[in-house]
Amino acid sequence: MVSADDRDGLLRTFSAFSEIGAKNGGLHRLTGTPADGAARSLLTSSFQERGYTVARDAVGNLFGFVLPPGEQPTILLGSHLDSQPDGGRFDGQTGVVIALWAARVLEPKIRSGELPFNLGVVNWTNEEGARFQPSVLGSSVFTGRIPVQAALGATDSRGATLGESLTGIDALGTDEVPLPSAYLEVHVEQGGVLEREGVDIGIVEGAWGALKLDVQVTGLQTHTGPPPMAERVDALYATALLITAVRDMGLGQPDGRLHTTVGSLRITPESPNCTPSEVRTKVELRSDDPTILTASRTEFDMVLAEIGRVTGASLEVSAESLRETTRMWPEGPEILERAATGCQLSSRRMKTVAGHDALVMNTAVPSMLFFLPSVGGQTHNCREMTEDRDLVNGLSVMVKAVETLGEAFASSPDDDGNPAS
Ligand SMILES: [Zn+2]
Repeated sequence: MVSADDRDGLLRTFSAFSEIGAKNGGLHRLTGTPADGAARSLLTSSFQERGYTVARDAVGNLFGFVLPPGEQPTILLGSHLDSQPDGGRFDGQTGVVIALWAARVLEPKIRSGELPFNLGVVNWTNEEGARFQPSVLGSSVFTGRIPVQAALGATDSRGATLGESLTGIDALGTDEVPLPSAYLEVHVEQGGVLEREGVDIGIVEGAWGALKLDVQVTGLQTHTGPPPMAERVDALYATALLITAVRDMGLGQPDGRLHTTVGSLRITPESPNCTPSEVRTKVELRSDDPTILTASRTEFDMVLAEIGRVTGASLEVSAESLRETTRMWPEGPEILERAATGCQLSSRRMKTVAGHDALVMNTAVPSMLFFLPSVGGQTHNCREMTEDRDLVNGLSVMVKAVETLGEAFASSPDDDGNPAS
C-alpha cells in the first residue's frame, strides 16, 4: 500500500524517536522531563522540515498542520510521546510517528485540494498520568473538560507542578487551536487478542468504563508486642482482606467482564513496631457493561461492611470517579473496516479496556481509534513490542482511512464541515 521509501522512512523515524529516553530496550520518558523536551523538539523539527505550521497551546499540546490553519475543515491525527516509568517504545509513540508519516504521504493530495480538508498531527501532553495526574490531560484541556490552570497546577510526587515542568522544557505556547472536524488515532492494542486471533487491525467501537475509588481504612495504632491478637484493630490486615475480596469480585464475574485492581497503598505509621492505624488505598473496577459496574459498586459497599465487621476497622470510600462506558463515533468503524479491506488486511471490532486520547476527543468531535497487535499483549514495560510489519500496516490503514473520510466530505459535508453522517 505504502511505497518502500515511506515504509523505510516510517521505521527510521520510529527508531530515531525510540532513542530519546531509551532504557532497557524500552522508554523512560516522563512528562515535562528533558527526554520529553527532546522528543518534542524532534517532532517540531520534523514538522518544520515539511513546512508545516507549528502550534503549541497553553498546556503544551504540540500540533503541526500541513496547510496554515484557516477556515477549512481539519482532520487531526495523533497520540502521545510521553511514556510510563520504565515503559515501552510503542505505547503512544506509535500513533504519533504513524500520524507524522501519514501526513507526509497525504501532503500532495492536501496541498492540491484533491482531499478537501487540512491535515494536522498532534502530540498530546501527559497522556500517561504517570508523573502528573490525571491521565489524558492534554486532550482533556483541549476539549474543555479540564480548565488549563487546574491542569498546569497538577503536582508530581516532589511537589513540582506540570506548569513549571513544561516551562522548563520550553513546551508551553499561546496558540489557540480550534477543534478539528474529526480525529483519528492508531495505538498498540496493549492486550493479546489480535495476536491470538491472527487479526491485523483492531477497530475500536467503544470503551470499557472505569470506576476509581479511594478507600480509607482506619484501625488502631498499638505496639506489635504485648497487645493480644484478638484485641487488635489492624488497618493493614483489613486492607489485605480488601485486596483479596476485590480480586475475587473480578474473578467471580462470568466471561471476564469485570477487571478489578488495588493499585496503591499508603500505610501510616509504617513502623515495624506498630500495628498500622490507617491505610489509604486506590481501587479500580472496570467493565464494558454499565450494569455490571453499578452492581459491582453495590457489592463493593457490602464487601467493605463485611470486612469492617470481621476486623473492627472502619472502611470508607473517600473519593470516587466514574469514566462511563463509551461508544465511538458510529460511522467510524465502517470507515476503518473499508480502509483495512482496501489494504487487504483483516480486522475485527473490539472495545478498549485502557483509556486513550481518542476517547476524550470523541466527546467533542467524530473520533476513530484502531489498534495494532502487541506481541504477547505486553505493555507498560520494556518488553512491549509491535512488529515492523504491523507498524507499516498501521500507516497504510491510516492513509486509507483519511482518503475514505475525504470521500465522505466530498459527498455531503454538513454546514459545520463535518463528514457526512
Ligand atoms: Zn498510550
